[in-house]
Amino acid sequence: MLNIKNILFQIKVPCFIKQQNSQKSWFHLNSVLRVLNVSLQNRCVVVNESSSDKQLHFMKFPTVWLRDNCQCNECFHQSSKSRQIDWVKFDTKVNITNITASDNSISIDWSDKHSSTYSLDWLRERDFHTDKREKYLNEFYRPKTKHWSKNDFKKILSTFEYKNVMEKNNDLKLWLQQLAIYGVAIIKNAGTDKTAVRKLADRVGFIRKTTYGEEFIVEAKPGAKNYAYLSTPLPLHTDLPYYEYKPSVNLLHCVVQSNSKGGENLLADGFHVVDILKKNYPHFFETLTKTVIDWNDIGEDGGLPFHNIWRSPVICLDGDGFYTRINHSIPQRDSHFNVTIEEVELWYEAYSKFVKLLQQESVSFKLSPGDILTFNNIRLVHGRTGYDDNENNVRCIVGAYLDWDIIYSKLRVLMKNYNKNEK
Ligand SMILES: [Zn+2]
Repeated sequence: MLNIKNILFQIKVPCFIKQQNSQKSWFHLNSVLRVLNVSLQNRCVVVNESSSDKQLHFMKFPTVWLRDNCQCNECFHQSSKSRQIDWVKFDTKVNITNITASDNSISIDWSDKHSSTYSLDWLRERDFHTDKREKYLNEFYRPKTKHWSKNDFKKILSTFEYKNVMEKNNDLKLWLQQLAIYGVAIIKNAGTDKTAVRKLADRVGFIRKTTYGEEFIVEAKPGAKNYAYLSTPLPLHTDLPYYEYKPSVNLLHCVVQSNSKGGENLLADGFHVVDILKKNYPHFFETLTKTVIDWNDIGEDGGLPFHNIWRSPVICLDGDGFYTRINHSIPQRDSHFNVTIEEVELWYEAYSKFVKLLQQESVSFKLSPGDILTFNNIRLVHGRTGYDDNENNVRCIVGAYLDWDIIYSKLRVLMKNYNKNEK
């Protein structure tokens, strides 16, 4: 469907490009202030914006990508912001027959008789230049992580006021950014109401339910169904490694703290420890990234029996070698070990080194009632020192999980709103 306005505009604008010879075309805007030059080179549209003395933007866009991303009502469903091109008929060799430019958009006529218009702002946001792509990935897609050592912990730990996070979008955004970058932050003064953690999760999105329910209460229980429900020391671990979709972020609200010695939280940045392992013990690193471990959890909670198993290495990598997930839990590592006998001893050596390094790099601190410790369960390992539990000395933590999909989504919405109107 052709846009009448564009046709009229094309008649007015003296700018024509022949695809075959990639002929350059000039378009002067405000005569001195800005020059926009569009041309076609090797099946790419080159957009060059310059002022009289300097280049403003130099961008290149593949022809096929432009056709695929036509923003007209026929190709793009505006209210759902979704592509609706018929890809069964899509011609990947589509050619450009005409390009015109105005001061804030470019228009293209295609060999399939279609016409498209792209605003320069829209194109700038999708610039293929390496720096622009990296900026998008590291700021908008997901904030770039920074790994921390035991010695860095005091410097990187941020605290936020519960009331501010609940009421001010900027505080909510800063908390979630901190969580994404460093994997840990503490929210203070949440009170001792056991619903505080649910309210916090609802502020972001919604609680991730697990076998243990939505909120879970960590306090010493007789006949405990989970290792965490004991007052003995809880060694460093990640929660629920036996889930393919492992819950992403723990929210642990300290409602009552033990007066006895102990009951301290332990934390270590698993990604930092992997950095150490990769540098100093590359063969152990390789073993822990390649050997697939069976993680399991067998039991029942609230009358629901379960038998969870997920098979995955201790250190998971993506296709680019970036760390994506740490799995570590001594109690929840299955005795079924589905590797060859020759692989077993090396894996134990590697895992033993990893566990010792985690311990060396762990920090400890004691939460106060009203604190909510929030941390990335995909990346950090956590634990607790033992404490004396009796009638006069109890400890009660209310926990819940959030998933990164929900957190990142909220963060992007906040960043977009902030950029628009909350500066
Ligand atoms: Zn279109």
